[in-house]
Amino acid sequence: MDYTRYFETAVEALKTERRYRVFADLERIAGRFPRATWHGAPGGPREITVWCSNDYLGMGQHADVIAAMTATAERCGTGAGGTRNISGNSHPIVELERELADLHGKEAALVFTSGYISNQAGISTIAKLIPNCLILSDALNHNSMIEGVRQSGCEKKIWRHNDLAHLEELLRAAGDRPKLIVFESVYSMDGDVAPIGRICDLAERYGAMTYLDEVHAVGMYGARGAGIAERDGVMGRVDVIEGTLGKAFGVLGGYVTAKSAVIDAVRSYAQGFIFTTALPPAICAAAAASVRHLKQSRVEREGQQRQAARTKAVLMAAGIPVMPTPTHIVPVMVRDPEACKAASDRLLERHGIYIQPINYPTVPRGTERLRVTPTPLHTEADIQRLRDALVEVWSTLGLAFEPQAQAAE
Ligand code: PLP
Repeated sequence: MDYTRYFETAVEALKTERRYRVFADLERIAGRFPRATWHGAPGGPREITVWCSNDYLGMGQHADVIAAMTATAERCGTGAGGTRNISGNSHPIVELERELADLHGKEAALVFTSGYISNQAGISTIAKLIPNCLILSDALNHNSMIEGVRQSGCEKKIWRHNDLAHLEELLRAAGDRPKLIVFESVYSMDGDVAPIGRICDLAERYGAMTYLDEVHAVGMYGARGAGIAERDGVMGRVDVIEGTLGKAFGVLGGYVTAKSAVIDAVRSYAQGFIFTTALPPAICAAAAASVRHLKQSRVEREGQQRQAARTKAVLMAAGIPVMPTPTHIVPVMVRDPEACKAASDRLLERHGIYIQPINYPTVPRGTERLRVTPTPLHTEADIQRLRDALVEVWSTLGLAFEPQAQAAE
């Protein structure tokens, strides 16, 4: 039996389908974000500028966050020492959960090792504990939510993305049975936003429970950085809010917040929580420092919004095909997988700009793009350099400019 051949064949299939991914070898430079060292550069390591990080606010290098992590590692050591069932709670995880419950105005919070696991374990456990639950899932939900829905074993219906009429039709048709609506606030690839308040109206009218993923919004929206639900004044109407500690909070981990009864049940039944080693104390302390900082500081949020708006305006004025979004996410459309990869390669090799190509299956075929994420730490000079680089790449590769966007700046 040639077992190796199975794996080679699987990888060849990806290459044939033009979906094979190559990762750049990068080292972020603390204190100089968004700069990083590219170790794969021909001729030796070279400094580059990252334009696609989900460390959206640069909190991964914030002095308070680094200090909390290093001081806690010195005090408590590195690992958590096991699952929480075995090792108990580390005090920093207890403090982090308090901080998160307070952030979202909920009774309790539960931390997981990633946002992915929090969705997978959270959705599957919550839905399983509701007898005869029907899950209503937005068509563009993230893979971690889809896996949560699948693992629940519950019946599901997919509603067309952000389509309230379709959601209502499905809710009405479901009748009296228990229903769980699962959706995101900011959709990470198109950068669009769910009408959370109107989804809550429907949930209340038809007696459904709501589960909201705020992964691409926590830290960045709302007066204290709790997300879009806070910004829209509807946080108290959403039953379960899920978030990540790995993007705008700059560390690692995920969580769900809700009433104590829900959190206690998830803590007691979720396999993805019970059977895995807890987040290390130093990670928890760093995440708590970041959450605490962003609760009282708006400087990062305002800087991000300003630089995102500026980047969109500058790129559109240069005819670069930017998909208009109401958020910090700036999708630059290429619409071809090879051209997308070639544009990304040329940006890195020639201009020292790193933007990962986004191809199928992350986005539908024909909508391949460069997903640009401006941060408060990208300067005006960085934006000008990005524009010049994209114009050069677009001209060299013969990609289409968008003349109608000229008026945007
Ligand atoms: N939910 C959404 C919408 C995401 O885009 C991601 C991506 O990473 C996750 C959850 C998973 O979060 P984490 O990276 O913390 O595992």
